Amino acid sequence: MKLGAYTFKPEKAQGFDFQVLRVKTETGTRLPPVQDMYSNVAIFADNVAVSNHPDWISQSPLGPAKMGNNNFNIYWDIVCATQPEHRAEQLNYIAEVDKHSPGVWLNSQYFADQGHCICPRCNMLWKKSGLSWLEWRRNEVTEYIAQIREKVKKELVLCIQPDPVSSYERYGVDFDDFAKYVDVFNVVMFSKNYATPWYSEMLARDFKKLLKKPFYISFYVFGPGDNPKDVPSPQELLTVSVRCARAGAAGFLYLTDNASQIRTFQKTAVEMVELREKLRTYGGQPVQEFLDFVESWRKIV
Ligand SMILES: [Zn+2]
Repeated sequence: MKLGAYTFKPEKAQGFDFQVLRVKTETGTRLPPVQDMYSNVAIFADNVAVSNHPDWISQSPLGPAKMGNNNFNIYWDIVCATQPEHRAEQLNYIAEVDKHSPGVWLNSQYFADQGHCICPRCNMLWKKSGLSWLEWRRNEVTEYIAQIREKVKKELVLCIQPDPVSSYERYGVDFDDFAKYVDVFNVVMFSKNYATPWYSEMLARDFKKLLKKPFYISFYVFGPGDNPKDVPSPQELLTVSVRCARAGAAGFLYLTDNASQIRTFQKTAVEMVELREKLRTYGGQPVQEFLDFVESWRKIV
């Protein structure tokens, strides 16, 4: 068992086996590496690169990987994973920080999310490969990791998204491919902000892949004897429902002790006009259907 400290600032915390410094974050800002702290580098998530080269941004049928595109869980701008100049510059950068630290931890070393990237170069490379779309993406990601492995002489850690079932379809990530090159994996579970929408959506997506019949998802609104502090807020319930709707759930159940509690939830949901407008931007037909359903509660609350 090892414990590490993971920081945005080059300051060492006491009482840990190792320290990881975010030398290049998803915002694209860079810090000099520190000799006795591992260097954490976000590769394709890079606001600075996209701001300097807007045409490098990863493209999808649901729009670019731009911060604010609510169709994806994207909190920054992401460069297309086959962009050759960015790839080359990052390879050199990674080799350089490896020289000045005990090793390299990588984030965002894969495609932005499902459906990415459909830019003209990616389309051309895919067609030339003769592979299926998903296998081509996997190949692109794995080949780049192989190139990185040649540059990193010390420890290489690959950070992966907390999705054990659909990372191949979403990011082009094959865990067994990565295992050939990596010393250790790091599963980024991170902020509670991610927890409700991100993990529920991930689970819905994974069950959609595994189950051979349609499925409902049950959410807990208020159970017998519950402390109001322990249950999800109506805002969380609506957001999670929308995220699971777009991931393929066939419907939802809302559990309460009695009918008046569920009416309170419906009434609050109807009153959250601004939130529901925002959630309209979170996806296609299933999301709109769900929100129309919530809107229809206006007649009964
Ligand atoms: Zn592309």
